[in-house]
Amino acid sequence: MQTLFEKIAAREIPAAIVYEDDLVLAIRDINPQAPVHVLIFPKTALPRIAEAKTEDTYLLGHLLMKASEVAATLGLTTGGYRLVINNGANGGETVPHLHVHILGGRQMAWPPG
Ligand code: AMP
Repeated sequence: MQTLFEKIAAREIPAAIVYEDDLVLAIRDINPQAPVHVLIFPKTALPRIAEAKTEDTYLLGHLLMKASEVAATLGLTTGGYRLVINNGANGGETVPHLHVHILGGRQMAWPPG
């Protein structure tokens, strides 16, 4: 069964796309937790970072490089931003398809709640 983000990548579910290439897609989060809240994820479903394999190394590097580029495109570099990956139940994961949250436009708190 396809994940929610695979369906978005296949244009079966609409989303506000901010970046796309052969490997990754970046969309606006439907329930933003900051003035800028974007999700970037691989188009192929990897459930979570804990299940990444050695052969995913290039994809994971690409994902982070593109997260940085998308943040720059959204004007977040100077003010700063936060990248978040929620892994599993205690991590707060709700969509079992690896994604990086890009959060910016306000001061972030630490530690996270
Ligand atoms: P996580 O809790 O880390 O698994 O993050 C999942 C994120 O996906 C949450 O921030 C949701 O608001 C977001 N989300 C869920 N459904 C959609 C959707 N259809 N379009 C965009 N973002 C979504």
